[in-house]
Amino acid sequence: MAPSHKHITVALAGNPNSGKTTIFNNLTGANQHVGNFPGVTVEKKEGHLIHGGYRIKLIDLPGTYSLSAGSLDEIIARNYIIDNKPDIVVDIVDASNIERNLYLSTQISELGIPMIIALNMSDTAQKRGINIDHKYLSTLLNIPVIPTIGNKRKGMAEILEKIIDTAENGQADTPAKVKYGKEFQDEICKLCDLIKKDNSSTNSYRPKWLALKLIENDREIMKYLIKHKYSDDLFRQAAAGRKHLQAIYGDEPASVITDKRYGFISGACSEATSMTAERRQDISDSIDNLLIHPNLGLPIFAILMWLVFQLTFSLGEKPMALIEWVIGGVSYLAATYIPEGLVNSLIVDGIIGGVGGVIVFLPNIMLLFLAIAILEDTGYMARAAFIMDRIMHKIGLHGKSFIPMLIGFGCTVPAFMGSRIIDDKTDRLVTMHVTNFMSCGARLPVYILVCGAFWPHNAGTVVFSIYAIGVVIAIIMVKVLRGTRFKGMSSPLVMELPPYRMPTFRSLFLHMWERSWLYLRKAGTIILSVSIVMWFLMTFPENSNYSRDFSLIINNARSDFDSGQIGLLQRNRIIEESENLMVSENLENSIAGRLGKLIEPVIEPLGFDWRLGIAMISGFAAKEVVVSTMGTVYGVGEVDESSQSLRNNLAGDPKYSKLIAYSFLVFILLYVPCMAAMAVFLRESGSWKETVFQFSYTFGLAWVISFAIYQGGKFLGLG
Ligand code: GDP
Ligand code: MG
Repeated sequence: MAPSHKHITVALAGNPNSGKTTIFNNLTGANQHVGNFPGVTVEKKEGHLIHGGYRIKLIDLPGTYSLSAGSLDEIIARNYIIDNKPDIVVDIVDASNIERNLYLSTQISELGIPMIIALNMSDTAQKRGINIDHKYLSTLLNIPVIPTIGNKRKGMAEILEKIIDTAENGQADTPAKVKYGKEFQDEICKLCDLIKKDNSSTNSYRPKWLALKLIENDREIMKYLIKHKYSDDLFRQAAAGRKHLQAIYGDEPASVITDKRYGFISGACSEATSMTAERRQDISDSIDNLLIHPNLGLPIFAILMWLVFQLTFSLGEKPMALIEWVIGGVSYLAATYIPEGLVNSLIVDGIIGGVGGVIVFLPNIMLLFLAIAILEDTGYMARAAFIMDRIMHKIGLHGKSFIPMLIGFGCTVPAFMGSRIIDDKTDRLVTMHVTNFMSCGARLPVYILVCGAFWPHNAGTVVFSIYAIGVVIAIIMVKVLRGTRFKGMSSPLVMELPPYRMPTFRSLFLHMWERSWLYLRKAGTIILSVSIVMWFLMTFPENSNYSRDFSLIINNARSDFDSGQIGLLQRNRIIEESENLMVSENLENSIAGRLGKLIEPVIEPLGFDWRLGIAMISGFAAKEVVVSTMGTVYGVGEVDESSQSLRNNLAGDPKYSKLIAYSFLVFILLYVPCMAAMAVFLRESGSWKETVFQFSYTFGLAWVISFAIYQGGKFLGLG
């Protein structure tokens, strides 16, 4: 041995009979000796070879199916890697049994040692009709994969080369990790903090790994932690965490973790391998034959999504109406029993209206999350993402982005919340940034009103075109965002295809409840404060002169009626018109009204006047409010989208034209989500920066596109 040789230690790990010993012998030849692992009578084969200026020490670890400390062999293999910290682990994978073999690989990859996968028995795999795209597999796992045939000595040189390469250049990227889900992540983080507090320097385990093992209730690790006097807090937290997860998933956390690993592997394999011959298939496979069938998969998916949509919105209608009825009742009581005046107005319009606006979404949110929990827990969600991924990926989105975007057609609030099913943060943010363009149900009344006024004969077509514009803009904006703020496509993702399972009632309920409660608590506080601000803007300053003037007119009408000068109908008409005018003038004079006028120069290039400006501002409170505000601004009083008098007023106004109407519709489609949605956006993105960006870029985009429509139309002589 030349003294200049640098040393590397390489451990060979793998399932029994994967060909470890064969490869060990190939590499070391006669340079080996057999001993025992310390303290136990398990055979330890060690050998060495010289290659590329390195002296490589090889250890043949006991063959194991996992590192879960279920057997002595597993503990030895695991402890060897952790305690001796070999420079590299070469994981021998039997390609003809790839899914079972990769299970060990996912566990090794969590130990944080550079690793190389030898895809052994490639010949047997081939014979059995399994084709593995090893390059793609390597990309998916982010671990080098070298195909080998041990008994024919094929691939040995490549393995050595990779070992040297890894020793010299290191392994910069960490392997793709199995995603255990947010709930697991949270528990792991809590434990990590406690572990770091207890003992940061003296152990060779990574805190994250220890935390995961605690969740798995790993006996060996428990013993280790007790021996090293970790605090009772840690064990208590671990027990609580396990209990919490058990409640959510309705199963032992350890077996959920196993499922997730298999799901990850199964997903990676179905992307990187293809079968040539007919293969034995288990139940999950045969269900998958139907559900991810190349032709049937998409229609089935469409039907299921339609059901989710129906469940969320149609089933939500009745409880929503009930809640509205209760709020209406409370509001009526408050209006009756609190003396008329500012306090009354603040409580009825500001507070009850604001809180009501939050609670009213609750049925939708609970039902949506119930639907999502069913899809996730049964295992279908992964398939849905798998089916949509090809299409969505072309656009630049994740397969799962489809669901929040679909829900966006109902309501942006649950849509933003639904985006939490997307694990990757960038994918999630890009999805959230375009979800607003899926025209929500609250905008429809505005379209119906305006289209009914300007296009009484083909309102349907015009409304459809608005929806279509929203979808097209969303696709374009994904491309733009991906090219600018969120540069770089997300790395190829491994779709997890977990086994199908029957969801438990408890787990569904907990998933639904946790997320709904989150909505109520966080969104509620923000929406309440914004409602009060909106109320303030639309109420102050009060102008008592108007009230006095109009009271005078009303009183005159009353006495005229009493003295028989006018009839009952005329009296009532005068009273109603005066009241409408009073409210309208009060609004015009309010801060919101003045703001509407203040922004007139900004919206004038889009064809809008200050009245449409006020409508837009009020639309931030909730999109459907645009209609009732327009009723007030145009002095028509309380209206809904079918109000003929308001339509007549709009279409008859010489200031307006079809071109302006269309420009306005597009603006309503694109501009800022309502305040409830913004509150949820802030909560879900956890970033003020992104929230401000969402607000300002949707507003800017709405302006630019409405500008283009109005000015372009005028240029073409359409105005
Ligand atoms: P270990 O249990 O992982 O140490 O596996 P062994 O090295 O003892 O190999 C088990 C059997 O598989 C032996 O009969 C080897 O000859 C055979 N074997 C090893 N590698 C390959 C391979 O790539 N292709 C085929 N067809 N057989 C192999
Ligand atoms: Mg062996």
